[in-house]
Amino acid sequence: MDCPKCKAGMESVAFEEIEVERCTGCGGLWFDTLEQEELRARRGSEAIDTGYSARGRANNAIGNFKCPRCHGAMIRMVDHLQPHIWYEQCSTCGGTYLDAGEFKDYKDRTPADLIRDWRAKARP
Ligand SMILES: [Zn+2]
Ligand SMILES: [Zn+2]
Repeated sequence: MDCPKCKAGMESVAFEEIEVERCTGCGGLWFDTLEQEELRARRGSEAIDTGYSARGRANNAIGNFKCPRCHGAMIRMVDHLQPHIWYEQCSTCGGTYLDAGEFKDYKDRTPADLIRDWRAKARP
């Protein structure tokens, strides 16, 4: 499978028995349906997110791409707890693409995140 954002190859990486795809170029992560939720709940799973978050932030701008699994349309989502995190989800198969650094960001919610999210919500 190739990365839908930078077209580099993706490799399988496993955390415990859950396998996800990680881009060898930009470090973006692909999760099949529900894998993301599964992994989020596990302690230490942020270790799979080894990409550079600066690269991930730059890739955030790429929002128009097809699902690498089924070529369905990807929809931009905003995390309900941490609205500064944007990600893309396939409307057909439910797979999710996260830019490098975003999964780690989900996992460690810092006081700075809380303030950022509070500001994001306060904005009209
Ligand atoms: Zn990539
Ligand atoms: Zn899909």
